[in-house]
This record gives sequence, structure tokens and C-alpha cells, in this order.
Amino acid sequence: MKTLKLYNTETKRKAEFVPMNPDNVTMYVCGPTVWNHAHIGNYRPPVVFDVLARVLRSQFPKVTYARNITDIDDKINLAAEKEGVDISVISERFTKAYHDGLDALGVLPPDIEPKVTEHVAEIHQKIDALIERGHAYEAEGHVLFDVPSYQGYGELSKRDPEELLAGARIDIASYKKSDGDFVLWKPSSDDQPGWDSPWGRGRPGWHIECTAMAAAHLGETIDIHGGGHDLVFPHHENERAQSTCAHGTKFVNYWLHNGFVNVNKEKMSKSIGNVLLVRDLLNDAPGEAIRYVLLSAHYRAPLDWSDDVLLQANSSLDRLYGALRKMQNVVVPNDIGNQIPSGFAEAMFDDLNTPKALAELFSLSKQANTSVSKDEQVKLKAALIQSGEWLGLLQQDPETWFSGDGDTDEAAEIEQLIVERARAKVDKNWVRADEIRAILADKRVVLEDGADGTTWRIER
Ligand SMILES: [Zn+2]
Repeated sequence: MKTLKLYNTETKRKAEFVPMNPDNVTMYVCGPTVWNHAHIGNYRPPVVFDVLARVLRSQFPKVTYARNITDIDDKINLAAEKEGVDISVISERFTKAYHDGLDALGVLPPDIEPKVTEHVAEIHQKIDALIERGHAYEAEGHVLFDVPSYQGYGELSKRDPEELLAGARIDIASYKKSDGDFVLWKPSSDDQPGWDSPWGRGRPGWHIECTAMAAAHLGETIDIHGGGHDLVFPHHENERAQSTCAHGTKFVNYWLHNGFVNVNKEKMSKSIGNVLLVRDLLNDAPGEAIRYVLLSAHYRAPLDWSDDVLLQANSSLDRLYGALRKMQNVVVPNDIGNQIPSGFAEAMFDDLNTPKALAELFSLSKQANTSVSKDEQVKLKAALIQSGEWLGLLQQDPETWFSGDGDTDEAAEIEQLIVERARAKVDKNWVRADEIRAILADKRVVLEDGADGTTWRIER
């Protein structure tokens, strides 16, 4: 077997992945701030790192994967204030919505999903250690990280500290010693959510949360730290500075970052009105098709979402599931062993080259469509399912895939419309009957009127 190579943002190179302890690989990925519904760009990291976790689990006996929930944040405070509810009402609501989206996209749960509200004591300990080691200071109820005290600052994002300071010179808070110093703890007013601390009642800054949670669950040095590319600076640069200075050890061996999702070649933004929420996309397409689109580009490259990507993903999955449906009666024995083709494994081991891996799946399905020998079919079916498992694709029954997206609400609605249309025809209400046919056509439902009544299917 070839070895897994990963691109490390810190060294700017692809290198062989060698875990500190092959019996327990550790990975931390920054999760969402749960203040509203997540858009498609927010779902790219959990899908990408779910694939990495699957690949790692296939190679190492144990992987400990932590992906946090940020449930202390000023945006949550604001949303709670607007509704006049406790912050937990907001964060629980949007954690559930996030989990629903992840389930639909076939993302397996991480081993640990730490919440900031459950780690305030650990955050205090990290801040204490930083003050003690001369890397943080208290000022006007705040605790700040002293950026000039750490020589390695800027090494991850490749930014010149001088430049960083110059860039931060707008609106400098009076309590900062240096312009680039960032908040570890900030005071809360009486009407703001807050926690008691040695520095007064307040709340943690965003960056220290991840430092405390990663150390609490994975140790002071971890193998892999992942997240979206937008987190390199300042979030990960600051996490790296805090962890290195609090522990006196290297924080992360492999830093991995995924690219943005753009919509029609533009950055998603509220002002353009092109923000795509996954819960809306799920009305139009099965989660597996959304996942397919997210894996259709290399994870480090930007992904361009356009109007036709979901249709294309649907038809690609139709081809792959079509090959599996043809082999519906082929039985794969449980003890068949690893049938993952070397071309597929090589693509995945080359810094998760999912576009190339998907191309390998198509070549398998092509072979399956021409192959005649039963033995070959058994191997091809196993190869498709086992390779699909690494990507989190092709794991459902082909019939389930072809019968639609498994959305029973929608199926019930369609059945009801069909019944109503039949009644309209009996009543000779042709206008209504045509209207219903048009509604169904919009849903891409194809009706076939036969002697035994009307059957339907969803055309992709
Ligand atoms: Zn983080």
C-alpha cells in the first residue's frame, strides 16, 4: 500500500503523514458557531474531514477525531437578546439544525464534540498558564495575548508580524499594549451572558476556546488540525500561538485547510443574496448529491457552485448506482477482503484527490456494465461499495436511490396529488388535472398512466 500524503499549510508542502502514535491518530477540526443556519460553505469542512477520518480509520487501528461546537459567541448573545431567550435556546436550536444537515450529507459523527460552555474551567487554566509564562496580561477587565512575546507569530499564515501590526492600526483599544494583541477573556456587563473568573465576570475570546478543547481531549500536541481556509488567519495563527506558549511544545504536526465555496464564481454574501443554505438545497436534491458536489473538486481548491451542479451530481450518481443495480443479485461474500483498486487508493492517498478518485469509480462502473464473468462482477461490486465507503457515497440500496431521495413527506404529497388528479379527471375538471400535471412536472415527477392506474417516478 502506498502511504498517505497530506499538504501542510505550515510547511507549504505535501508530505507523508506520520502520526506521533500510530495506535491513536488525533485530529481536531473547528466546528460551527451555532447562531444561525449553516450555508453550503460551512458544510465543506465537515464533509472533507469526514472523508479524511474515514481514510485514516482504514489505515490506523484508532483515530480520535474532535470537532467542536462554538456555543459562546457574541452573535449568539445578540440572537438570544433579540428573541428574549437564554443563549442555550439559540445554540441548541442551531446545533440540531447543523446535525440534521450533517446526517443528510452522510457525515459520520466525530468521536468527541466538545462545547465551549462545558470547558470554561479549562479555558481559565490556559489563560492562567499564559499569564504565568509572560505571554498574556490583564488590562481593564480584559486578558490579552501579548503578540510580540512570541517570536513564531505569523509562521502559519506566512504573514510578517510588522505588517500584521500595521494592518491592525485602525480603532485600537486603549487597553492593548500592542496593536496586534488579541483577546483571551473579555468582561461582560450585568445583562450579558458571563462566567466568573479570576479576572472578573466575563466570557472567553474565540481562539482560546479551541486551544483549551483540543488540549483537553487530544493532548498538547495533535497530529492534524483542520478547518476552512478562512481560519488560517487569525483563528489558527492565534490558536497556534496560545497553545505553543501555554504548553511550551509544538501544537500541530499537520495543518490542513479546505478552500471556499463560491456561488456562480462569486463569494457568498448576504448583500449579493447568493447564500445557499443546506436545508434549502435539501428540498431540491438528496443529501448524497450535495455531498458528491462537495467532493467533486479537490478540497484545497475553491469549489464553484452553479445552478446545474446538483443535476450533474444526480446524473453521475445515477450512473454509479445504475451499475450497482445491474449487479443487484450479485452476492459479495463477507470475507472478500480489501477490493479497493490501487488507482482509487493512490488518488485518495495523494492529499485526498477526490476528483481523480471519482473518475476511478466511473471506470469501475463502466467495467461493471460490460463485464460478463460472475467472479469479476463480485469483485467490481465490492470495489464500488468499499471505495464508496471512503467517500461516504454509494452506501444505500440502489432501489432506494432511484425511488427518489427517501423523503417520505414528499412521496406522500405526490401520491395525494395523483389521487386528486384522478378525481379531477373523473369530474371532467381538465383544468385542475392539467394544473396538477404541471405541479408534478415541476417536481420532476413523471406520470405513466396505465391500465392499473397511474405510476410515478422522479426523473433526475
Ligand atoms: Zn477553532
